[in-house]
Amino acid sequence: MNEIKCLGCGSILQTSHKNRPGYIDENLLNKDTENLLCQRCFKLKHYRELTDVEISQDEYIKILNKIAFVDALVLNMVDLFDLQGSIIPSIHRFIGQNDMILVGNKRDVLPKSLNDGKIKQWIRKIIKEYGYNIKDIALVSAQKGHGIDELMALIEKYRSNRDVYIIGSTNVGKSTLVNAIIKRFTEKTDDLITTSQFPGTTLDLIEIPLDENHYLIDTPGIINKHQYAFYLDKKNLQHILPKKEIKPKVYQLDKEQTLFFDGLARFDYLDGERTSFVCYFSNDIKVHRTKLSNADNLFSKHIGELLSPPSKEEYGNLGKYKISHFRTPKNRCDIVISGLGFISIKAPNIKVAIHAPKNVGVYIRPSLF
Ligand code: GDP
Repeated sequence: MNEIKCLGCGSILQTSHKNRPGYIDENLLNKDTENLLCQRCFKLKHYRELTDVEISQDEYIKILNKIAFVDALVLNMVDLFDLQGSIIPSIHRFIGQNDMILVGNKRDVLPKSLNDGKIKQWIRKIIKEYGYNIKDIALVSAQKGHGIDELMALIEKYRSNRDVYIIGSTNVGKSTLVNAIIKRFTEKTDDLITTSQFPGTTLDLIEIPLDENHYLIDTPGIINKHQYAFYLDKKNLQHILPKKEIKPKVYQLDKEQTLFFDGLARFDYLDGERTSFVCYFSNDIKVHRTKLSNADNLFSKHIGELLSPPSKEEYGNLGKYKISHFRTPKNRCDIVISGLGFISIKAPNIKVAIHAPKNVGVYIRPSLF
């Protein structure tokens, strides 16, 4: 068969990979060979809706590298629920000297009572360790439409006649934000949102006009293999992603007690006085408490059933869980399981451990609270 290209973005049309560039339903491809749009361009044109595409690490790096050679403002989107897990390491090596604004999304899942100023202070402390150099921070909830006007005002403040690129890992909510911006934008104007082929890639980037000559350009997200999301099917992914303000669950534990977060991770309190542990996980995740001496047995008997997700099949793919040990520091800390949640601990100098799949990031950080 001759290669047929999408009229919108120029990708070669294909019928086998739904999430790759150029996908089109087989029936449509057989009906007509002219004026065809891939599913992504079709949805963008007719519904003003952006869908994700998957690209390889190489394609992603090419795109980021390109940004270093243009004079642009970069919006780097992160997930406030999993800040470290959604940070792109060595970002300045890719984007060069360009100015960057950090956009912290999913503000709605953190406690309302928490002050925005305090969240920003905490973000600054953490990103410093990653060598991030930023102009400003915006806190938004793309899904609820909160903070978007403030973000647009920040963009205007810093972009000074330049294009604006949005970058971020998958699942930070980039499509949700771009869709929200497209909706606002199209309420005000009939200007066309366009796509353009990025040199050296198979990819079309969405361009939203900011003025006559400049665009807000969406780039695809990089898949983050140390986030839990990568290892779950769609249904279980929805189960772990918090949808609204998290109601923390507080447990008073004696040493040698264990908490299971469904079958996804396990927390052991190994040594210290009786103390409290504040757990921030999606409200859908069930916490099971047991004695440390009983934990291995409970897990092997009930994984994939009482302790699910993961399903038995997913657990088979995840492999035996790795144990990470921590001794808590003087100041309050959070122990994070990337993309799943975190446990906030005030007591200093106690010993705890986390069991989680070997590729999922587990780390300790200064507390958000
Ligand atoms: P992308 O991969 O970065 O494009 O992320 P998506 O826009 O597809 O969002 C990933 C998941 O996060 C989806 O389940 C969204 O519904 C959810 N999400 C996006 N924005 C928000 C938000 O502001 N708050 C909450 N609670 N969830 C969000």
